[in-house]
Amino acid sequence: MTLTLPTLNAASLDEATAHLDGVYEHSPWIARAALAQRPFATLAALKSAMAQVVTQASREQQLQLIRAHPELAGKAMVSQSLTHESTNEQSKAGLTNCSPDEFAKLQQLNQAYNAKFGWPFILAVRGPRGLGLSRTQIIQTFERRLHGHPDFELQECLRNIHRIAEIRLNDKFGQTPELGNELWDWHESLAQHSDPGFKENGQLTVTYMTEAHQACAKEIAQRMRECGFDSVRIDVLGNVVGRYESDSTSRNIHQGEVPKTPQKVLLTGSHYDTVRNGGNYDGRLGIFVPMMCVRELHKAGKRLPFGIEVVGFSEEEGQRYKATFLASGALTGYFNPAWLEQSDSDGILMKNVLPALAESALSAHDLIAKIAELKRDPHDYLGFVEVHIEQGPVLNALNFPLGVVTSINGSVRMLGEITGQASHAGTTPMQTRRDAAAALAEISVYLEQRALQDGDSVATIGMLHVPNGSINVVPGCCQFSLDMRAPTDAQRDALVADVLAQIQTICDKRGVSVSLEETMRASAAPSHPAWQARWEKAVAATGVPIFKLPSGAGHDAMKLHEIMPQAMLFVRGENSGISHNPLESTTNDDMQLAVQAFSALLDDLARN
Ligand SMILES: [Zn+2]
Repeated sequence: MTLTLPTLNAASLDEATAHLDGVYEHSPWIARAALAQRPFATLAALKSAMAQVVTQASREQQLQLIRAHPELAGKAMVSQSLTHESTNEQSKAGLTNCSPDEFAKLQQLNQAYNAKFGWPFILAVRGPRGLGLSRTQIIQTFERRLHGHPDFELQECLRNIHRIAEIRLNDKFGQTPELGNELWDWHESLAQHSDPGFKENGQLTVTYMTEAHQACAKEIAQRMRECGFDSVRIDVLGNVVGRYESDSTSRNIHQGEVPKTPQKVLLTGSHYDTVRNGGNYDGRLGIFVPMMCVRELHKAGKRLPFGIEVVGFSEEEGQRYKATFLASGALTGYFNPAWLEQSDSDGILMKNVLPALAESALSAHDLIAKIAELKRDPHDYLGFVEVHIEQGPVLNALNFPLGVVTSINGSVRMLGEITGQASHAGTTPMQTRRDAAAALAEISVYLEQRALQDGDSVATIGMLHVPNGSINVVPGCCQFSLDMRAPTDAQRDALVADVLAQIQTICDKRGVSVSLEETMRASAAPSHPAWQARWEKAVAATGVPIFKLPSGAGHDAMKLHEIMPQAMLFVRGENSGISHNPLESTTNDDMQLAVQAFSALLDDLARN
């Protein structure tokens, strides 16, 4: 029988615990503790409450929960003594049909994993789309996680247990994340377009104005038409722009009248280009989630008192040409004509890949004029919102599916060089050395401590190099990079000032000299308070806890921030939130929640 929330909310504690039997394998204490928080308004709220019970349990209880699970394709499967739920999951993933080689491999992995960690390997084998991972995917994941740190693996097992519980709850409540499944499939379909050299290896790479890039634009445009947008176009820079008009504008269009006071428009979107060998969701999620909302509005024959403009930005990653944010920048009125003369690694100039120029439809002069026309007038818009996969580990670690962005961090990047004295590693006494790399090591330790002090600043030395270094030579030179970010410009500037002062102190003390060159400085883009509050309300409407965090990475919203209020919503990434990597993933359920949150934001805007 299908369970409903009203039934669960009204049942006695014993009955309700029995209703949730089997959600967490052999561990009814989790349901019992979570049920204290009844009534649950949404299934997502129940899932969250159960996950938080596990998070707050002792390590011993967490280990017991993990150990209550069977091994994958293990003895319990062979002797058919698995729980009903586990049998269903292991057979959906095809584990009951292993070849003898696969079976032997899994036994060997089970043994190695147990020997290393002391608990069984847990994987939600129905996977992020719920259909079941392939045996190859399972074995690859197993091999990868065998190399993990025990503290991390313990948490990763728990996260997989929460995902298993989520799918079991969906089954119990007869709820399928239909919109999330469709969104998943849209991403899968778009990921079929990939640049040569990557496509052959099953890797996703879509850089500016390649054949794959233009195919992506066409596919997004076609899908927008199918969703019921009133107008869809691809602009001269390759941005795909879909408009779903407001109630009065659409009435006027249909009656052939010119609207007297046009209603304002909500601007949203993200980018569809990718880094090399990237993930399926970076950027694209922020195009597809609002498209899905528009489709649902259109299906229901609903118009809102404002228009919705969804933009698939053509270029954000700066991979083929050093023109990062070229697409969203153009909407703010910024375009550097020098970019047109830039060449890619094959010597192809940007001006020769832009279809409008390459097909000689326009002269360069006309093109620049056309690009200038892409500038949006902020008076026409309510603001800009962007949905994006988190690209970081925070939501994943805390078991929160959604996160409200408080600010896009401001950053400063520098390249530096320390000059000391190269000398013989055997003959130079320690007290007379002027070791450039040792100075950098001290700087690195300080950098870490100083950023930690702020709580939410980050600082990284991502490159360090001893030119012509040798095992028996005290480094005379050390080149390095600095990347420092913080949620406000003031906090970033204080961080940078302290780091620079300490670098000078360390170098003076060690008798080495230092030169630094600033290579980038980007302002922080704090979320507009009213828009951030709207996202908070929208997340609350889905029933999951409101969690706020800054964005460490840059996004198109940073550019729009220059001309209109903006705020972002993050969606949890799997695999520690890894991004710019093929392992980037999110789940059908999390995508469904993103659609629900976006729809709640639209409803709220429509009411107020
Ligand atoms: Zn992105």
